Amino acid sequence: MAKVVVIGGGVIGCAVAERLSFEGHQVTLLERDQLACRASGAAAGELSPQSTTVPAEESANQSLQLFPELIARIEKDSAMNVEYRVQEGLQPAFEPEEVARLRAAGGRWLDAQACRKAEPSLSADVLGAVLLKHAHLTPPRFVRALARAVAARGAAIREGTPVIGFERSGDEVHRVITAAGSHEADWAVIAAGPWSKEVASTAGVDVDVRPQRGQLAALDPRALVLKHSVFWSNGYLVPKADGTIIAGGTEEDSGFDDRPTVAGIATLLNLARRLVPDLGAASLLRAWAGLRPVTRDGRPIVEAVGVRNLIVATGHHRKGILLAPLAAMQVASLIS
Ligand SMILES: Cc1cc2nc3c(=O)[nH]c(=O)nc-3n(C[C@H](O)[C@H](O)[C@H](O)COP(=O)(O)OP(=O)(O)OC[C@H]3O[C@@H](n4cnc5c(N)ncnc54)[C@H](O)[C@@H]3O)c2cc1C
Repeated sequence: MAKVVVIGGGVIGCAVAERLSFEGHQVTLLERDQLACRASGAAAGELSPQSTTVPAEESANQSLQLFPELIARIEKDSAMNVEYRVQEGLQPAFEPEEVARLRAAGGRWLDAQACRKAEPSLSADVLGAVLLKHAHLTPPRFVRALARAVAARGAAIREGTPVIGFERSGDEVHRVITAAGSHEADWAVIAAGPWSKEVASTAGVDVDVRPQRGQLAALDPRALVLKHSVFWSNGYLVPKADGTIIAGGTEEDSGFDDRPTVAGIATLLNLARRLVPDLGAASLLRAWAGLRPVTRDGRPIVEAVGVRNLIVATGHHRKGILLAPLAAMQVASLIS
């Protein structure tokens, strides 16, 4: 079994560490700050394979199917509840062209009347909606449960430990270097989100990944109850187990600035009211933002890049929580 050093304590790094430790590898996970402190802690946690953008729906569906077994395993090993729920989602149409497009894409179609029966608070302007396969969970809990399961198997998890370089000769890395010492590695996995470029550069490798800001708002809907997650034009409303509703998510180029803005949150609140007008009376509980890792072609990178035993796992864009189990399997199969 191999000595593997995983760099990054987001959902990708923790899912990779979980899979590798489950398969019996000797894993060390190094996180610069705290587990789930970036996009993986900021995410809404919707696990919806339907998407008009890459990554392909097929990978997303494949990953979604890995959740029940993974959740059962980590909830047992970590003694934590990640609030995983399978639920139906709705993708409504407001214009006749949208109706035609959504109906052509397949799925069960609800006309306007059936739509309002299913979700009475939906806008009266909705012409119909597709019923979607959907699940969701609470991302910071998911990441911590993955990490606890890893630790329960005897693996080392080091927070507050930035990786600053690699000891490399020829086509191989031998050690991963941090300010607090170095770690021997048969394999190293860079899962540092949009910082993967910076980390890989210290091994002399170029990785084409950049940050993209996404903003979210948590609403207290008061008496209003939303039974479905609602998806529309890259935005969504996700009802959570605690009764709040998460409205998301913008897509902006802001470099590494992950602070929410007035304009970004206003866009989300307008979207929420367009979908469910009565949310105008909801309270705004919290607004925040995170940085998604995005590649030039929008597809994730999960491969050895430039160095035989240095794997990069990043670029999961809007679907990193959903795609984490698949990414973990892909890394495990590269190593075995
Ligand atoms: C607002 C928003 C909403 C989202 N909603 C969803 C959703 O509902 N469903 C979904 O599937 N996806 C969602 N996403 C996307 C998802 O959050 C990301 O794709 C995913 O979290 C990326 O995970 P990661 O582990 O690659 O990166 P990150 O979460 O960024 O983790 C990378 C980690 O690496 C660490 N690191 C950086 N440099 C170093 C170093 N030198 N040494 C050690 N560690 C280092 C960082 O501190 C960080 O903890 C959302 C994203 C955003 C921003």
